[in-house]
Amino acid sequence: MADLKTLREEVIEASRQIVSSGIMTKSLHGNLSLKLPSGDAFLLTAGGSLADMQPENIALFALDGTLIEGTVMPVGAEIVQMHAIVYRTRPEFGGVVHTHSPFATGFAVAGKEIPGAYEAMVRNGMVEGVPVAGYGPRGSQQSVENIEAVLRAHEAIKALLLENHGVLTFAESVGAAVRANQVVEESAEIILYANNLGGAKPIPSEMITATRERAASFSAAGAYSSETPSQA
Ligand SMILES: [Zn+2]
Repeated sequence: MADLKTLREEVIEASRQIVSSGIMTKSLHGNLSLKLPSGDAFLLTAGGSLADMQPENIALFALDGTLIEGTVMPVGAEIVQMHAIVYRTRPEFGGVVHTHSPFATGFAVAGKEIPGAYEAMVRNGMVEGVPVAGYGPRGSQQSVENIEAVLRAHEAIKALLLENHGVLTFAESVGAAVRANQVVEESAEIILYANNLGGAKPIPSEMITATRERAASFSAAGAYSSETPSQA
């Protein structure tokens, strides 16, 4: 069994990061989860505030949404399946984040996808932009089926919009899902500005490939420094 204490600390750190990033709505509504390395269960913030997450607010669930350990508040119980469906549908993801970050949620409330027109999205792997999952009451079967359909229809996404509701991001780790939410929110804000200037200009598909390859090659090369320290 993985060290649950350490993994709960990782959830608390991710909660702290997303609140301190300033991308949340004033209510600080949100929740996040982390899949255990064993791949068969996940930790979820099932109560309390992300601004002051405590270990006792983080419950452990099986991938079918069955509670294994912990206490779940009513608002937490509502959203268990919203997280579980991501892990059941896309096994490569290890973390899920849900917020109402306002610029992205503006697109969700308008029922409009966020186009992949901003380089940061492409570099982050969101080549297909951020599609919309049709509305259903949060965590309901209808909503979960809509999320699953989007996850199956789009390979190159790390986020989707919950129509009339908010944002769901997912990545290889919960920390990466937090960063994905930050990229989505930044992208939504910038594309909204672009729309006031005549509309976001799509990145040509061959340039999307070039952008991904260039970022990957620099990442693989790692940091470098001068061989002799500057004498300045
Ligand atoms: Zn919500």
